[in-house]
Amino acid sequence: MPLFTPGRRWQPPFSPFERKAFGDRLLQGVEYAVKGPLFGCRMCGNCLLQETAFICSMECPKGARNGPCGGSTEEHCYVDETRPCIWYQVYDRAFRMNRQEMLLEVLPPLDWDKVGGETWGDVVRQVRKVGTRKVFTGLLSRNVAERAHTWEAVFRPVRQPEWWQGDSQYHGPKYQEPASELERRLKAGEFVVTAEVAPPISAKIDKMVKNIDIIKPYVAAVNFTDNPSAAPRTASWACSALSIKQGAEPVMQIAARDRTRVGLQSEVMGAADLGIRNILCISGDSMKMAPPPRGRMDIIDVDAVQMLWVLRRMRDEGLYLDGRQIKTPPVYFLGAAASPFASEPKFQALREHKKVNAGAQFFQTNLVYDAAHMEIWLNELAKRGILDKVYILIGITPLKTLKMATYMNNEVPGVFIPEPLMKRMQAADQAGNAQEEGVQIALELIEKIKKFEGQGVHGLHIMAVGWEEIVPRIVTEGGVLPPDFSPPAAPAVKEQAAAPA
Ligand code: SF4
Repeated sequence: MPLFTPGRRWQPPFSPFERKAFGDRLLQGVEYAVKGPLFGCRMCGNCLLQETAFICSMECPKGARNGPCGGSTEEHCYVDETRPCIWYQVYDRAFRMNRQEMLLEVLPPLDWDKVGGETWGDVVRQVRKVGTRKVFTGLLSRNVAERAHTWEAVFRPVRQPEWWQGDSQYHGPKYQEPASELERRLKAGEFVVTAEVAPPISAKIDKMVKNIDIIKPYVAAVNFTDNPSAAPRTASWACSALSIKQGAEPVMQIAARDRTRVGLQSEVMGAADLGIRNILCISGDSMKMAPPPRGRMDIIDVDAVQMLWVLRRMRDEGLYLDGRQIKTPPVYFLGAAASPFASEPKFQALREHKKVNAGAQFFQTNLVYDAAHMEIWLNELAKRGILDKVYILIGITPLKTLKMATYMNNEVPGVFIPEPLMKRMQAADQAGNAQEEGVQIALELIEKIKKFEGQGVHGLHIMAVGWEEIVPRIVTEGGVLPPDFSPPAAPAVKEQAAAPA
């Protein structure tokens, strides 16, 4: 190791330490000189410009390479409000150019051996492989199909390496028997309810265990969030394992934010060994929402769509991402988040379609306070023909205070509370009755949502945000009790010990 390495000092620590031939460095320089000013290219070495309507998606602070996160809006990126959501711009342009269906192809995570390098070299090598003359004659052909075929013969292997093989097709699960009780109930046509329980922030688990006991007779499964707001809590897999001991089926949430591709696959295998059969893949709240000091925001290794693709292939094809065979593959029911109120319904529907193709079997949506808008989103899903391929559980959160309603409406990405509901909460707050009003609003919403049973909606997902004891009342008064419901036994009243004389 030389004592003084001036060149390395300016090299980002994550760049591969390799000496490149002069020709490669020259090509790299030319590519950057052209694509930098034209597309804001960041030399990710895995160029997707053709699939993203010629807008470089590497500007997304969440590193999403397969579409927007649930916080995408027309106005700005929720992580960095000084700039637009790059994925909104990609979708907007793709729809205007009629290239939106190209966005369905599941694109691979970065190959870090290539980051910082050029992509044009790969294209040149592929042209040679196919045959330079064949490529030129194919691209100059008058036959449109032949031109498209030649184009794909060159570019598909460049953007879809052997270890990924992503496409735009639907890949249904390859197992027959339901992987979990939640899946069994959904397949049987039950209108199911799931509910969220917040993992503890200390090593004491009594409250979580109590909350599980309170809600388990009323729901099909209990979700354990994965460090919401990017603030550490007890791991979702550990809570899920504890939940199984308590007799409640868990849904383990797993956020892309905190996983490398290695960690993701390892954690899911471990979860399967512990008997966890429902897994929900999410992007995770940005580190921007975390308490200070701020952690790195750019360590996204796999996005939520890629997580689904990897986990589905592990289960159905018995393959790790690196191609190793899994002798006994894990079995699980795969879910994803859906966000009916982020950006435009047709954009969201495209994103949801991609998740279904990648492996999502059920959706738990972000909070819904406007059933009419939800219907527009459902119609967009119907146009894409995916309503019979995925179970949809609509997100419900009872509002407890006006402050909470204001926070949800203004700060939580992808949440919209209509003005009339805000006014009701304001009036109730002044009357000291906000909690009851919040419950009534939730019950009215459930009434409206139930009407979509059989039209794409298969149940509810209640996120009570620390108010778990309200779940039994909402499920009971909302008329969505499980068919096999039996009321929990009343807690035994302790007999008063006789006072000593
Ligand atoms: S809103 Fe989400 S998808 Fe859009 S740029 Fe920001 S982090 Fe990326």
